[in-house]
This record gives sequence, C-alpha cells and structure tokens, in this order.
Amino acid sequence: MATVLLVEDNEQNRDMLGRRLRKRGYTVEEAVDGRQGVDMALQAQPDLILMDISLPEMSGLEATQAIRADEAGRTMPIIALTAHAMQSDRIEALQAGCDEFLAKPVDLPVLLETMQRLLESGRPPPDPALAAFAAYNE
Ligand code: MN
Repeated sequence: MATVLLVEDNEQNRDMLGRRLRKRGYTVEEAVDGRQGVDMALQAQPDLILMDISLPEMSGLEATQAIRADEAGRTMPIIALTAHAMQSDRIEALQAGCDEFLAKPVDLPVLLETMQRLLESGRPPPDPALAAFAAYNE
C-alpha cells in the first residue's frame, strides 16, 4: 500500500485525516510545517503528498515549488488542500506544481478517489489552458 506524506500544521486536522487514511491501509508520514514537508518529501520519497497551503515557516505553495525544483521531487503527485477555494487559488496551486486542488473541509470519498487515481496513473500531463494562462501573464 502507498505511503502518503501529510503536510498539515493544524494538529486536529492532521490527526483526523491521518487516522482515516491509516484505517484504509495507507502508511502516513506527517510534517507540521512547509520546511519539514520539503525535507520529508525529498528524503522519504512518499508515493503521494497531501499539502496544506496555509502553513508556517514556508507556505504550501513555496514548499511545493521547492519540492519540484529538486530532481528527487519531480514525480510524486501533490494534492493541495486549502480553505481558500477560489479559482485564482486553484491556478496558483497548479502553477506551483500541485496536480490537484481540493477544498477544506476535505470530502473524504473525493479525496480517496483523487488519491487513488493519481497513485494509479501518476501525475497528469500539464494542462494546456494553464500553460496558456502562464504565458499570458509573463
Ligand atoms: Mn494550515
């Protein structure tokens, strides 16, 4: 079964989500801030990362960029989890290198399905609309 790195600073959220994922057979590693998230992502090489966006030390966006900037962090899927669920937040997360974006509070069936899809097929190809958007904003 897959190993998931859960990067979440809120202890209650972290405990609850971690427990739910372990109950379904996932091995869950936990990081409590962005910097620890980057270190653990690159060292432990999890199969998938759940990345809170609002984090101390380094935001989830900065952490994702740092992970993607390292050769060791290019292939694992990253799912952004955030209470800020506007379209602009979604675009920012995808531009930073996240592959999916889910609003908090997390809908567990949706999260599990998204995780499973990414674990089975790996990171999706870059979205052409996103590339066009990035080019437009250069
Ligand atoms: Mn947070």
